[in-house]
Order: sequence, then structure tokens, then C-alpha cells
Amino acid sequence: MKEMADMLRQGAKMLSTTCPECGAPLFQLKTGEIFCPREKREVKLMNEGETLEGVKQEASLEKTLQNKLTLLQQRLDAATEPAEIRELTETITILLDTLAKLKPRKP
Ligand SMILES: [Zn+2]
Repeated sequence: MKEMADMLRQGAKMLSTTCPECGAPLFQLKTGEIFCPREKREVKLMNEGETLEGVKQEASLEKTLQNKLTLLQQRLDAATEPAEIRELTETITILLDTLAKLKPRKP
């Protein structure tokens, strides 16, 4: 209950939807993210016609892309050859584009 009161105080909006994992009422943060106050994690709500499987798959894809971005960033940090820098930058751009395609999700 305390978490929920805190979230309301921070301007979050309580939704009529409950968390698919634990059943707690969900909150929409000012940033637009849907948040479960009990598990303290972001919850991705399914859009019309989407399956739980599909959402989980996208979430794991997003995680994979994030991991690759971190890896490429480290390599870019160390890179000195212009050809390598260009190749890494192009790959990072593609990953960011793909992430951007995954991200847009509003209830
Ligand atoms: Zn939950």
C-alpha cells in the first residue's frame, strides 16, 4: 500500500488494469511507462491481438539488442582504424533503429 501511495504522490496514475504476473493494480508513470508497484518493475501491456509469448519474445529481443549495443560501444571506444569505426557506427545505427521499432508501445 505504501508503494502505491508513494506512486500517487509522484504523480503516477492508477490504472484499472492489474499486473499479469502478481495481480497488483498497475500504475502509469509520468513517463508513460506502466509499472507494477508490488514487483517494482515495468510491465508491458499487450495490445489488441498480441500474445503473451509475443511480448516476452520482444522483451528478450530488446535485451539482446541492448547487450549488443553495450558490446559495440566498448569496441568503438577501443577502435582506432577509420574503417573499423565506420563499420561499428553503422552497426550501432542499425541496432538503434531496430530498438526504436520495438519501443513504441502506448496502452
Ligand atoms: Zn506485478
